[in-house]
Amino acid sequence: MMPRRRFLAGSLASAAVASPFGIVRGAPVTFSADPYTLGVASGCPRENSIILWTRLAPRPLEEGGMPPSPVEVEWQIAEDEGFAHIAAKGVVRATAELAHSVHAQATGLRPGRVYWYRFRAGSAVSPVGRTRTAPAAGNGNGRFRFAFASCQQYEQGYYAAYRDMAARDLDLVVHLGDYIYEKSWGTRHVRQHGVGIPMTLGEFRNRYALYKSDADLQAAHAAFPWLSIWDDHEVADDYANDRSYTTRDPERFLKIRAAAYQAYYEHMPLPPSAHPIGPNATIYAHYRFGDMLDLLLLDERQYRSAPACVQTGRPATVPDCAERTEKVRTMLGDSQERWFDARLGDRRGRWTVVAQQTLMAEAKRKDAEGGDRFRMDGWDGYPNARRRLLDSIVTHKVRNPVVIGGDRHAFFAADLKCDFSRPHEATIAAEFVGTSITSDGPGESSVRNALAGNSDLIYANGEKRGYAVVALDARSCTVGFEALEDVKDAHSAVRRLATFAVEDGVPGVKAA
Ligand code: FE
Ligand code: CA
Repeated sequence: MMPRRRFLAGSLASAAVASPFGIVRGAPVTFSADPYTLGVASGCPRENSIILWTRLAPRPLEEGGMPPSPVEVEWQIAEDEGFAHIAAKGVVRATAELAHSVHAQATGLRPGRVYWYRFRAGSAVSPVGRTRTAPAAGNGNGRFRFAFASCQQYEQGYYAAYRDMAARDLDLVVHLGDYIYEKSWGTRHVRQHGVGIPMTLGEFRNRYALYKSDADLQAAHAAFPWLSIWDDHEVADDYANDRSYTTRDPERFLKIRAAAYQAYYEHMPLPPSAHPIGPNATIYAHYRFGDMLDLLLLDERQYRSAPACVQTGRPATVPDCAERTEKVRTMLGDSQERWFDARLGDRRGRWTVVAQQTLMAEAKRKDAEGGDRFRMDGWDGYPNARRRLLDSIVTHKVRNPVVIGGDRHAFFAADLKCDFSRPHEATIAAEFVGTSITSDGPGESSVRNALAGNSDLIYANGEKRGYAVVALDARSCTVGFEALEDVKDAHSAVRRLATFAVEDGVPGVKAA
C-alpha cells in the first residue's frame, strides 16, 4: 500500500497537457508512473539564489525504480504562479549515482521575494513549489518569520504538524535533525517502516522515500525554503563521530555513515558544498537574512569526541566522572569551532540564531544517593565545549543571541550562562527547544525533575508533539510553541501552548 499523496493529486492532470516548458531536447524519456512521488523542495535561500530539489522516483520504495541511465531534467523559477515571467531556468542531469535526485541552483534572483518553481522530465511536469529568497541588507524589512522542527518518527504519529505549518505565512523552515529514524521504537504505532534498520545506501534511500511520500511533509517543503541539519537518527542512535554503540567497529560504522550521509544529501535541498565525500560532509553553514538575522547552523554529530563515562556503551544519563570535564573534549571539532567564532565576528543581523541539535542548557538529574547524573549524549557530556561556544558569544559581544534545538522531544525555554554552577551569573543568551513532530516524549516526571533541579530551565513540556514558530522584528523575538492535540490523528488541530519573547538588547527568556 502506498501512502496517500494528496499534494500530488493535481500534478498528473497538468502533465498530460502540452509541455509548458516549450523546449524539447535529448531523447524523450517516458515514465510508467508519476516520477514526482517525493514532491519538490527548495532550500538554502540567499539574496540572489536558491536550491531547487526533486527526485525522479516512479517506484519510490524500490530504490526509485529508474533505469541506470541519466535523465535531463528542466527546471524553471518564475515571479508568478502561472509562470508567465520566468526569472531563471536550466537543465540538469539526474544520475543513478545520486538516485536521480536534482539539486538545481537558481541564480540571478531578486532578494526578499516569493518565487514559484517546477521541473520537467520528458512529458512529466512536477507539482509547483513556492519559495522565497533572503532579503537584502539595508532594505528596512520589518519582520522575519520561521518555524523550526525536529524528530519525526514515522511510525509514532502523523505529520499533522506539517499540514498546520504549510498553511502559515513563513519565510523559512529550519529542520534540526531526526528527519528519518533508522529504527522502530515506541508504542501505539499508526503506520509501519515495514523493513528493518537501514545499513546500505539502497536501504537508506528507501527510508527517505517512505518518509517523504507523506503528503503533509511534502506540502511543508513545497510551501517554504528549508535549511536543515542532521542529528543522530539519520545514521544511528546516539552516535558520536565514528563511535556507535550499535556498530562498535569504527571502520564498519563509517561505511554506514557514508551511505546515510549520501542518502541525506540526495533527499534534501542542500547546496553542492554539502555533497559527501565518503563518510564526510560539510553541513554547517551561515545564512544571512537582511539586517534582521544571522542564522548559524551547526553539526554536532560528525566531529564530536566519544561519549564520556560510558566506555563503549550507550551514552545514557549516568553518574559524573573525570572524563566528562576534560578540556580537550569537543562537540563541534576544531575547524567548526574556529569557523563558528569567525562567523560571530562577521555577523550583521540584529538577531543571531544558533540552530543546533539538542538542549544546550544544563539539565542534570539527581539520583537516589543525591549525586548528579548527566546525559552524556547531549551538551552536558561536553561542558567545556559548551563553555567555549558561549565564551565566543560573549567575546564578540553578539547583540541578541538565541539558541534553538531539538532532539529532546520536549519543549524547553532556558537562559544560557557561561557557568551553570553559578546561578547568579549573568544570562548571555536565550534558548528554545522545539518538541518533536511525532516522536514519543519523555515521561512527565523526568521533565518535572529537570525543572526542579536546574534553575536556568524556565519551561519544559514533554507531553506535546508539535513545533515552534519564531517571529523577529526590530524590537523583539517572539517564540510560540505550537502543540498537536493528538499526534495519532492525521487531522489533529494545533494550538498555541506557550509564548516567550526575547527583547532587543536584553539577553534571556521573558514570558510573552
Ligand atoms: Fe529524535
Ligand atoms: Ca536525536
